Amino acid sequence: MARAWVGLGANLGDAQATVSAAIEALDGLVDTALLRASLLYATPAWGNEDQPPFVNAVACVETALPPLDLLDALLALEARFGRVRDPAVHWGPRQLDLDVLLYGEQVLDLPRLKVPHPFLHERAFVLLPLAEIDPELMVPGHGRVRDIVMRVPTSGIVPIRG
Ligand code: ATP
Ligand code: CA
Ligand code: CA
Repeated sequence: MARAWVGLGANLGDAQATVSAAIEALDGLVDTALLRASLLYATPAWGNEDQPPFVNAVACVETALPPLDLLDALLALEARFGRVRDPAVHWGPRQLDLDVLLYGEQVLDLPRLKVPHPFLHERAFVLLPLAEIDPELMVPGHGRVRDIVMRVPTSGIVPIRG
């Protein structure tokens, strides 16, 4: 079994409901159990700013799926939640985005899967929720979440309290 971290994001449709339902759905993936999840966060769009703000969260799962199988399971879940990919638009709006942030302490540089996620250490919308639930978490190559989060601008990202 491995402990993996999943980043969730949505900015089309009822993004809060989608992210909440997707967190629950992680627990339903084959050979996978949800261990914990962050609050949901409202965040300004990143990279391509001409789109609605996002709802983001992170979740930690225990899984027997090898990394590429976990990725495939997440991509299938995105599709189940109605994500349609537009290959012409990079970082465009989406119904649901699920990224593998970390897979244990593994470092992978495969054509379809880079772990740790290549932008994890730059993205406050990932680092703030990670810091909320596991500040001591080690990101291979970058150090502890509580130290990395100090280096990124976090303004505009607010927890959504239900
Ligand atoms: P970003 O990766 O910068 O967050 P994105 O999530 O918008 O961008 P997508 O269009 O969702 O990118 O995914 C494109 C491809 O990225 C996926 O088909 C997948 O093969 C690849 N990929 C590489 N590393 C990862 C990872 N750690 N998690 C999820 N997908 C990854
Ligand atoms: Ca992403
Ligand atoms: Ca993605």
